[in-house]
Amino acid sequence: MKKTYSTQEIEKRLSEAGVQPTLQRIAIGQYVLCDADHPTAEDVLAWAEKKLMKISQATVYNTLNTLVEAGLARPFRFPHSDKVVYDSNLMDHFHFLDEKSGQVYDIAMEDIEIKVEMPKKYKIKSLDVVIKGEIKN
Ligand SMILES: [Zn+2]
Repeated sequence: MKKTYSTQEIEKRLSEAGVQPTLQRIAIGQYVLCDADHPTAEDVLAWAEKKLMKISQATVYNTLNTLVEAGLARPFRFPHSDKVVYDSNLMDHFHFLDEKSGQVYDIAMEDIEIKVEMPKKYKIKSLDVVIKGEIKN
């Protein structure tokens, strides 16, 4: 499940991360963390330009980096795209890619079973799983 954040919470986390929580940054935080779904930096920029009018690309990129540094979003690269998406679901989870629509869905780890057995010399730190297919109607 996605966590929802209040404006105050986003403001607080930005401050804690050492950046001035301007209205623009808070709005970007709200969009990335609550409203958008695995957006790319380009998605966020397009949204911000539409919504916030005067905003620099640097502000958008810096804010995304701040959200990552503050531990609020994780950058993730899907194998089907060369773009990094920002994932606000901080629970360990896997992804399902609907190849028809390109839509990405979060799959809770407890909903599927994946068994990984590695030779002892490898220490696993994380496991990214992207399952491709299509949504059945
Ligand atoms: Zn995700």
